Amino acid sequence: MQNLLQNLNPEQLAAVTLPPQSALILAGAGSGKTRVLTTRIAWLIQTGQVSPAGIMAVTFTNKAAKEMLTRLSAMLPVNTRGMWIGTFHGLCNRLLRTHYKDAALPQAFQILDSQDQLSMIKRLLKANNVDDEKYPAKDLMYFINNAKDQGLRAHQVEAYEPITRKFVELYELYDQQCQKEGVVDFAELLLRAYELLSRNAPLRQHYQMRFRHILVDEFQDTNDLQYNLLKLLAGQGEQGGGAIFAVGDDDQSIYAFRGANVGNMMKFEQDFRVQNLIKLEQNYRSHGHILDSANYLIANNSQRLGKNLRTDAGQGEQVRVYEASKDLEEAQWIIEETKSLMADGVPRSEIAVLYRSNAQSRVIEHALFAAGMPYTVYGGLRYFQRAEVKHAIAYLQLMDNPHNDSAFLRVVNFPTRGIGVRSIEQLQMAADAYGISLYAAVPYMTGKAGTSLGAFVKLIEGMRMETQQLALPELVRVVLERSTLLAHYQTEKEGADRIENLEQMVNAATQFVQEEGFGQNAPAHLGPQAQAQAGQPVVSGDGLEIIDADAALATVMSPLAAFLAHASLEAGDAQAQAGQDALQLMTVHSAKGLEFDAVFITGLEEGLFPHESSSREDNGVDEERRLMYVAITRARRRLYMSFTQQRMLHGQTRFNMKSRFFNELPEESLKWLSPRVQQGNWFSNRKATTAWDDADFRSGGTDNQIARQITQKSGGGSGWRIGESVAHAKFGEGVIVNIEGGAGAARAQINFGAAGMKVLDLSVAKLERV
Ligand code: ATP
Ligand code: MG
Repeated sequence: MQNLLQNLNPEQLAAVTLPPQSALILAGAGSGKTRVLTTRIAWLIQTGQVSPAGIMAVTFTNKAAKEMLTRLSAMLPVNTRGMWIGTFHGLCNRLLRTHYKDAALPQAFQILDSQDQLSMIKRLLKANNVDDEKYPAKDLMYFINNAKDQGLRAHQVEAYEPITRKFVELYELYDQQCQKEGVVDFAELLLRAYELLSRNAPLRQHYQMRFRHILVDEFQDTNDLQYNLLKLLAGQGEQGGGAIFAVGDDDQSIYAFRGANVGNMMKFEQDFRVQNLIKLEQNYRSHGHILDSANYLIANNSQRLGKNLRTDAGQGEQVRVYEASKDLEEAQWIIEETKSLMADGVPRSEIAVLYRSNAQSRVIEHALFAAGMPYTVYGGLRYFQRAEVKHAIAYLQLMDNPHNDSAFLRVVNFPTRGIGVRSIEQLQMAADAYGISLYAAVPYMTGKAGTSLGAFVKLIEGMRMETQQLALPELVRVVLERSTLLAHYQTEKEGADRIENLEQMVNAATQFVQEEGFGQNAPAHLGPQAQAQAGQPVVSGDGLEIIDADAALATVMSPLAAFLAHASLEAGDAQAQAGQDALQLMTVHSAKGLEFDAVFITGLEEGLFPHESSSREDNGVDEERRLMYVAITRARRRLYMSFTQQRMLHGQTRFNMKSRFFNELPEESLKWLSPRVQQGNWFSNRKATTAWDDADFRSGGTDNQIARQITQKSGGGSGWRIGESVAHAKFGEGVIVNIEGGAGAARAQINFGAAGMKVLDLSVAKLERV
């Protein structure tokens, strides 16, 4: 045990060895919160205070859960396989699988990812003749998820406005449709689990007795429903509840837009009468200049709980700041710096490139690809979301649950088998009329449609029969062949990559059955009951038929069902490229909790980071600042920041001002790599004769396209030019991003940074050149 605890500082040690009461560890980035949480689990088990089955630990990503399990097995000689360590979604999935009957779900219920959810909502709107201009599918989806995150069913939502009333009505229909198809969306996983436990007292008490210790990482980002679920599990107000050990950092709360409520930390202190509030102030991750930057920046936020961070690691290197003329140049600079880092011995996988918005990755990826630099996009277009993979998954879903209409529609005519839109419409009408799934409605179809749809059903049934005795990887192979997906992509010109991705699925299945502890040859279709007869233990507790969940998913799901759940839930994590020596690309949001030797924070431009959407919300910029704080604190030894004067985003060229965050960093911690040109001035300051020369000067003459665009868009004789820096009495400094109309009637769109984007009449507005 000594060695478990010996590498902890006194505050960490105190936290790890707290008595079994609820506790809150409030501490800044890199202070060892996650390490403390993991060590506490090991300590509790090793000192015999709890068995591995008595622990529940909630992490923010699947990757974090895996890491925690790996660390635990290194610390302790225990089998971690059945331990309840995972994300809220993963754990609720397991709970619902185990108690599917009590939760009123079919055993083979399937999980809708957000893509499927949206397409289902679109279908719903269409089926009910709802005008999607007036009630956009995306808004409805947001409405539903938001209500669920707050724990509200349709009838519980207060609706005064007609539009809200309509949404409530559609929410109700949506839930009915999900139930009919046997599918649940992400938010539903949590709400169902919550409802199950609140309704079913014996079940609740069973889990309250069981989980003596509930540990939650990244507590600041829990939403209300998650908080209430924890409260139920910890048995507040009931006998026998366990203790919650929560670790978090209010400065890293970055999911308010998804309903996370940082106020839960204060609420937790009160609700659980927390006696033990521990602060950790020593940072073990980053060098001084990096930490100073983080501390300075976050000091600009109000409403903080207040804590400091210090390091013994020394000041280290300054933060390197680079101003590029455009995004491609920024990407090229990243490549050059990465090469030199690698020459200094930094492994490529220890270098991360962070961006605020997913759309930024395209240019970077393009440059990396051209330079032959291996990279991984963490949380980008994930493996399980690629079209060809989703098609294959849909076939698998139909074999497991043919009533999943989304899966049905995805592949009923893919690869094409002569089933037209008209036939599908008829089928949909029949399904609606009888209140059944599309699959179940097929026998009601006659004529040509009946024949072709019938053939599709036969195909699915045939595949199911054929694969009865097969293990999961073989089943996947059969489905790829029999569905003719492989053959289809073989005829496609650009099909090679897709075929590779499809074949990759056989490997993914092999790896999955191994990792999850299914027998290597366990038939993929065989459900838990059958497996129990085959010798798996089924234990009842408290007079309830409670399946022992210690033996993990293998006892509650068939390999096929488990694999499908995995495909939906793990879609949020990186592709299986662990161990590969690749540069790590990701959004700042998905970098939470991670650390790297070197980090690039790119696109530090007003409107991008802080993001323009933030100015629309109260305290929006505060949330962006927390996001920036997360980004900075990912770096151990070297930190880079960059911004560009021009960027192509969503098909438009944007002219940028550098992010206000630069003004909030300590000057002495920054090292400017590019000459400090005044913002946006290079257009007007250079003595170049044409804009063309100007752009060439900055870009090394490689790309004249933008320069041409600039020459054309010279402001229509208004005397002003796009890209020019201006000052306005009220709005301050800005950059002209567009000019419309000719001389005399010209209007300019100007990015005033902090004051936002304005459109001003050039003959009226008193602008000055800067
Ligand atoms: P974040 O807020 O970013 O999630 P955190 O508070 O969870 O950070 P950890 O990831 O647990 O911090 O720890 C940061 C780094 O410091 C890790 O590499 C960890 O191994 C190391 N570390 C933590 N405590 C100590 C210690 N007492 N001695 C040496 N290294 C430590
Ligand atoms: Mg952490």
